[in-house]
Formats: sequence, structure tokens, C-alpha cells
Amino acid sequence: MTAEVYQFPCLTDNFGVLVHDPATGATAAIDVPEAAPVLKALEERGWTLTDILVTHRHGDHVQGIPEVKQRFPKARVIAPAGEADRVPLVDATVKEGDIARVGSLQARVIETPGHTIGHIVYFFEADKLLFAGDTLFSIGCGRVNEAPMAVMWDSLLKIAALPEDTAVYCGHEYTLANAKFALTIEPGNARLIAHAKQVEDLRANGAASLPTTLGLELAINPFLRAERPEVQAQLGMIGANPADVFAEIRERKNRF
Ligand code: ZN
Ligand code: FE
Repeated sequence: MTAEVYQFPCLTDNFGVLVHDPATGATAAIDVPEAAPVLKALEERGWTLTDILVTHRHGDHVQGIPEVKQRFPKARVIAPAGEADRVPLVDATVKEGDIARVGSLQARVIETPGHTIGHIVYFFEADKLLFAGDTLFSIGCGRVNEAPMAVMWDSLLKIAALPEDTAVYCGHEYTLANAKFALTIEPGNARLIAHAKQVEDLRANGAASLPTTLGLELAINPFLRAERPEVQAQLGMIGANPADVFAEIRERKNRF
């Protein structure tokens, strides 16, 4: 049976996401930016929380955990080994290659250091679902706070190697601002231009721009395209090391 995913807004621009296994009734929250919307979503769906899968330690991803645990004391908090000491109420830690189980569903843990040093993403292989936290956004990527740019680039390459029809859920609704920036890097990317318009319409109607797909991101997300000659040409960096091209794009975004 396939996983059911329910995404909803939290805080100002975070997403809450629930992953439900209809076979066993197990339900995981991917991060808990805020307790109330997560509890409301569980009630709306009639689901019982069994697991909390943490991507990284930042407050806007973990601060709701204590309140949600109070309501669902049996829910197991799974946290990245690299920074579990700074996540509340951890029950188990996971690292590269580990499998996080949600009932009969299985998520492969991929370490993606960069935004934080211990950041991980969860890939539900059978359903081709990726929960990318603050490593990858639609048309963007997380700020590189805790590792060299080249390390973040390697993290993004790991994600880029997943199947193109993977549905990608991200920690934040930043897509509109990301699209504006991406158009400065690739003003002639027809698919980017078309998708930016679509995102504008979605956001004008109060709808989410996520999930996205990896295939779409590979076509329009400049942070995944540092190897492409058309991107390198635009930056005057033809033949440069892709990690350096990535770093240049990230630095431009920081100043944008
Ligand atoms: Zn973060
Ligand atoms: Fe965040």
C-alpha cells in the first residue's frame, strides 16, 4: 500500500507534513515547526502520531515537539545523529544509510551537511517521496551555515542522484522569491519562466507551490545546475569546478 502525505502551513512560511501508512495506521510528522497545526492536521485526518522524523535542529523545525509529545507520548522522536543533543526528547538517532520505519513504510536516511552540519533528509524509496528539510527548496536551497560550500554541493548531488519522478517536500514556502532570483541566473530558461508564472498564480490563490519533483528541480533550480554549461556561461565561469559555481550562485543569493 502506498503512503498518504498531508502537507499544511506552519508559522509564517514553514510546512508541516504528515506521512501515513494505511497498512498499519502509523503516522509520522516530518519536523514539528509548531504544535497546534500538526495536532489539528492529525485530528482532521483521524491519524495517531507514532513517529517524528527530524531533519535538523533549528527551532522552526523542532520547537513543537514537546507539546506534540505530551498529546502523543508514544510517538518516537528520530533525530540526526550529528546534532541529536540539540533536539528535544530524542528516542533514537539515525545516520547515513539507516532506515527510519513508519509502520511498514521505510525511509532511507541521507546525510546532507551544509545548512547545519548534521542535517539529514528522508527518502521513502518505494513511494519515491523525499523530505528535504532545509537542504533543498523549490528553485532554491538552504543557507550554507555550517560546512564549506563544496560540502553542501556534495549534499545536493546526493539528492540529484535520486529518481527524477521523486516528489520533493521541503521545509519552507520560499518558491516565489527563489524564482525571482533564479531568473537572474537563467533569464532564458523557458521552463523556469513558465514555472515561475505558475507559482505566482498558486501563491496569489493562497495555494502551496510544494511538493515539487526532482525532475522539475533539475530543470529549473540553479543550485542543482552548477554543472550546466548554460549556467556557467551566464556566470562567466565556463569549465569551472561545479562546487565553485554553486558557491558563486549561493553567494549571489545571499546578497539578492
Ligand atoms: Zn533550518
Ligand atoms: Fe527552517
